[in-house]
Amino acid sequence: MRLSEVVREQFNKNLSEATNEEIYVALLKMTKEAIKDKGYNEGKKKIYYISAEFLIGKLLSNNLINLGIYDEISKELADNGKNIAEIEEVELEPSLGNGGLGRLAACFIDSIATLGMNGAGVTLNYHLGLFKQVFENKLQKETPNYWITDNCWSTRNNERSYEVPFKGFSLKSTLYDIDVCGYDSKAIKLHLFDVDTVDEGMVQGDSIRFDQHDIARNLTLFIYPDDSTKDGQLLRIYQQYFMVSNGAQLAIAEAKERGCTDLRDLADYVVIQINDTHPSMVIPELIRLMTAEGLSTDEAIEVVKKTCAYTNHTILAEALEKWPIEYLEEVVPHLLPIIRDLDRRVREQYSDPSVAIIDEWNRVHMAHMDIHYSFSVNGVAALHTDILKDSELNNFYKIYPEKFNNKTNGITFRRWLMYCNRDLTSFITELIGDGFKKNADELEKLLQFKDDDAVLERLIEIKKAAKKNLVGFIKSNTGEDINEDAIYDIQVKRLHEYKRQQLNVLYIIHKYLEIKEGKKPETPINFIFGAKAAPAYVIAKDIIHVIICLQNLINNDPEVSPYMKVVMVQNYNVTAGEKLFPACDISEQISLASKEASGTGNMKFMLNGAVTIGTMDGANVEIAELVGEDNIYIFGESSEAVIEHYNKGDYRSFDYIKRNPEIAKLVGFLLSPEMLSVGHYDHLARLHKELVMKDWFMTLLDIEDYIKVKDQAFADYNDRKAWAKKMLVNIAKAGYFSSDRTIKQYNDDIWKLN
Ligand SMILES: *Cc1c(COP(=O)(O)O)cnc(C)c1O
Repeated sequence: MRLSEVVREQFNKNLSEATNEEIYVALLKMTKEAIKDKGYNEGKKKIYYISAEFLIGKLLSNNLINLGIYDEISKELADNGKNIAEIEEVELEPSLGNGGLGRLAACFIDSIATLGMNGAGVTLNYHLGLFKQVFENKLQKETPNYWITDNCWSTRNNERSYEVPFKGFSLKSTLYDIDVCGYDSKAIKLHLFDVDTVDEGMVQGDSIRFDQHDIARNLTLFIYPDDSTKDGQLLRIYQQYFMVSNGAQLAIAEAKERGCTDLRDLADYVVIQINDTHPSMVIPELIRLMTAEGLSTDEAIEVVKKTCAYTNHTILAEALEKWPIEYLEEVVPHLLPIIRDLDRRVREQYSDPSVAIIDEWNRVHMAHMDIHYSFSVNGVAALHTDILKDSELNNFYKIYPEKFNNKTNGITFRRWLMYCNRDLTSFITELIGDGFKKNADELEKLLQFKDDDAVLERLIEIKKAAKKNLVGFIKSNTGEDINEDAIYDIQVKRLHEYKRQQLNVLYIIHKYLEIKEGKKPETPINFIFGAKAAPAYVIAKDIIHVIICLQNLINNDPEVSPYMKVVMVQNYNVTAGEKLFPACDISEQISLASKEASGTGNMKFMLNGAVTIGTMDGANVEIAELVGEDNIYIFGESSEAVIEHYNKGDYRSFDYIKRNPEIAKLVGFLLSPEMLSVGHYDHLARLHKELVMKDWFMTLLDIEDYIKVKDQAFADYNDRKAWAKKMLVNIAKAGYFSSDRTIKQYNDDIWKLN
């Protein structure tokens, strides 16, 4: 049925007379039905991708593209005086994740669907998401992110409901499903488990505070409730267990429906990918469920070891979950005998206490349980996996070398090229045909146009149009006017000291002071940031404050603002990313080497023709290998050098400040009269002190090199043709980072779906 007919049927109106809201509702209904009509991937064995996060973004246009009807629909809309971009605005973006890890899960389910695999995502139906970020008084404030309405993509599924036992009570789940339509293929489902008693009214005003005790009413309110208190940590355990118990019960029930008559054969029907440690309790939960059905403990453990695979996403010690036993006793006492038994078996076999599951302080190391009782342990970029094998998890690697493998992350090109950069997509299609849409490696064919002036010229024009589009978004998001002819230097990602937004801040201060002294850049520069900070992460929030202060100071200084501007985008999310990546010239990937497991923002930028400035960290290493040194700006110490600094404990930021007056000047500027005139002393002083006295992520280690290399990049930009060639090479070499490639590798090496 055509859209106009659906609108007529639903609202008794012509398409041209319908409101954008009505058209959205009609499109939603039409698209949901179209996906259902195509059907779902099938197969004997099924992959369950269990993840606390699925940062799916808006779905309307993505679904239209994957159904192959985007152009048709946007033309029908245009013919009736409507604009698809305005209709997209009606959709609310759910914030069911933090950042890279959740976005990865979303890209993966798109690729699983596209590649025809039998699979599903499993998570919780967080009513208010992570949080919506607003800036008030130059500080981050967290407010609830409402997204569940009568007209959203999830549909209640009354066929599945499971009883989940906790200490002293149990909760019955309800299930909501979102259909994930593959590109030119059938669909799979994202399952979001919930409880009917959850009460959004518990939240206090427009804050993210609520009574943390009333589990039946608060369980699925927010993802990652503040865990700086014991109550917050207990709530996370409730959430995690509720998620995995439902996932495990669903996997077993569906296996039986597909013909699994003996749970000893479960691994022929089910594979579970444990995305980071949040779903780790699925291991003891599966054992519990299977022993309840008559398997012996030995048998159940053997099945689990063939069914579960674990993905590690971080080497930051503070991010590896370790739950105190007494907390688990308070929430899931029935799992403790199983976890203790799993620990006992490990201890019987290995005397090294560093590989035990329960440590001497009675904390349960979730990652250790995953490694012992999964058949696969993977890192998410080549360097990351090497660091896991050689240092972080070396004791485990020595026991299980055959379990360790690498799966370099990827992104779905449907969203991060075909949807977000339609002009570039059509141009590429014009040049090399549309084979790249299904086989991303074909982008390499673009290399034949490396010296074609007309092609390079078009790339520059397409970039310029994307900048123009971003100017409008920045205006409405921040109120700031930015120059569309400037260099767009962008750092968007979660705020964390290891990602070193503060290093970028010090460069901006350097540039500001240079301009004040009369040294003006040949081309003006826009320094653009976007980042949410965890609500309890004090220094991260101070860094946001400093960026907003610089925005205020610099953009309002008539001596400086013609040459540079600073912008902090509010509530950075997938939708904002879709506007930012296409407009970028310089992609900031400046984490302290060894700390960024992979990164995927780096891939989105590259695919859209940005040139990376980065450290040899995460997937940057693989980007550098692919594009070659002329097409990337690498700076800073190597991961080996950084790891050695940590081992020796010999990094002192204060030494850098003492030795180099230039560095002292940049750090000192944080407490200058200029900054104090726009900012809050407490926040500025706390960050200043952190940089001078601690600087755990070694900002000052790399600052000289960063300034030098970044100055070079800005200078090189002025040779427009040479720069466009770098853009072209980056796009051409991005094919490797398609999540279709990643998912094929997961399937070939780990899942082995038939
Ligand atoms: C891709 C993406 C991320 C991950 O960015 P990194 O730079 O890899 O940390 C985070 N948030 C959103 C909204 C994204 O789209």
